[in-house]
Amino acid sequence: WRQRSELSSMADLPPDLDSAMSALDQQFWVSTAKLKDIVARFREELKEGLEKEGGNIPMNLSWVLGLSSGREKGRFLAIDLGGTNLRVCLKDGSGHGPNGKHTLTQTKYTLPATLKTSSADHLWTFITDALATFLSDHNLSDKYTTAPSHRLPLGFTFSYPATQHRIDHGILQRWTKGFDIAGVEGEDVTAQFRSHLAAKNLPVDLVCLVNDTVGAMIASAYNDPQTIAGAIFGTGCNAAYMQSLVREPASVPKLELREDEWEALDREGKQTGQETVKMAINCEYGAFDNALRVLPRTEFDDAVDRESPRPGEQAFEKMSAGLYLGEIFRLVLVGLVRRELLFTQNSKSMSKDGGELGKEAEERGLEKLKKPYTIDTGFLSAIEDDESPQFRQTRDLFNKILHLSPSDPEIEFCRRLAELIAVRGARLCACGIAAICLNEGIQQGHVAADGSVANKHPKFKRRWAEALGEILDWGDGNDGPIRLTSAEDGSGVGVAVIAAMTLERAQRGVR
Ligand code: BGC
Ligand code: MG
Repeated sequence: WRQRSELSSMADLPPDLDSAMSALDQQFWVSTAKLKDIVARFREELKEGLEKEGGNIPMNLSWVLGLSSGREKGRFLAIDLGGTNLRVCLKDGSGHGPNGKHTLTQTKYTLPATLKTSSADHLWTFITDALATFLSDHNLSDKYTTAPSHRLPLGFTFSYPATQHRIDHGILQRWTKGFDIAGVEGEDVTAQFRSHLAAKNLPVDLVCLVNDTVGAMIASAYNDPQTIAGAIFGTGCNAAYMQSLVREPASVPKLELREDEWEALDREGKQTGQETVKMAINCEYGAFDNALRVLPRTEFDDAVDRESPRPGEQAFEKMSAGLYLGEIFRLVLVGLVRRELLFTQNSKSMSKDGGELGKEAEERGLEKLKKPYTIDTGFLSAIEDDESPQFRQTRDLFNKILHLSPSDPEIEFCRRLAELIAVRGARLCACGIAAICLNEGIQQGHVAADGSVANKHPKFKRRWAEALGEILDWGDGNDGPIRLTSAEDGSGVGVAVIAAMTLERAQRGVR
């Protein structure tokens, strides 16, 4: 690791900051042996989640059977409720395969910050208002009516854990990613959504509720038959894969169906050209190791958890997903400022040049740093990415976001810290996919990845691949047979396609 370190020597750091760094380095580094321990436990939790009794990881049934044909045609809406935006999409056309032509029209609405801690009523009002605006902006309101067969079909990308007994309903297990909207947990989100659609007389038919990981997998699998899983490395983290449904011995013991339902599934398998019918499973592995048996938690992870709206939940996600990486970074800095190891120069030089004003400015800087979630993952990637002379880009960021002017050694320290935290996150992320592949006997293929960390953190994919190689013993630096690829737009196109597949399947009599 030390030889492989991507940063220059730390020799010119003051001795105390230097020893702080060595301690952090030890706390944040996850060795190959530790990765393997984590994967072993991960494999057990994935299995337990499929049992009747269930386990810690939900392993949610998605009722998405098989992959798309690429010929799904028609006009479909998709709504993507993400952690920061609400997106409304309209997919139109004759399939998304090579011979098809389709268009996607979309509008993004920023979720008001207060929405995350509001009530069910606020949430659904916000969503249906956005939908109403979208329909009228695109002259769709008059083309459809609320009569059952005259409605525009809608797929809902709901990126939170939901228990589904059918594809067109889902009970929210718990909010994640800092959401804390009252009155939705334990409730059927589709029923709540539908009653708001009806109250507004929107000519829309909610036909499916789909997790973002499932959308990413289905959207990508069409263009890339080597797709084995869909994964999100973004604000949250999670993955989905296709699980064969074998009856005896049961591959998914918790899937309890009547005889006629099994027959319908078998027919569906034949219809879609599969030997054994498969169902997408949304693992919800952000919840991995909530019991903290194996994860290498630091005091900073404990603090993130304690201060989150749902302590004790999403243990794995809180160490590896985009929402939390910047917050972990901030907490480390705050600890060092408290011990007067960091940003001391900052206050001195400020008060020297600016007297009282300088002091105020300095306090304002530290005030900023004291505010939870002021540093996002973009900040960390920008620091790690900075190749400008004297790290000008990093200095500007500190100035702009935190009102701080770090010294050279402080800049160096922060670069190294950003690296430690991001490397740990990427290495942990490899464990989930490794465990799925080992359990399913998957030896090669593509993991369709989406999310801000996968797409915007320049070093994530390489670090992830390196860790996967260590876990699966591929030998140093080898790009193995299981690779990350960039997912197609799963939450938009993917879910619109799943809505189309759902309607086609309904015509064949399979729910
Ligand atoms: C949610 C998952 C989602 C993931 C990525 C997690 O917090 O529980 O449902 O797939 O974030 O968006
Ligand atoms: Mg999303």
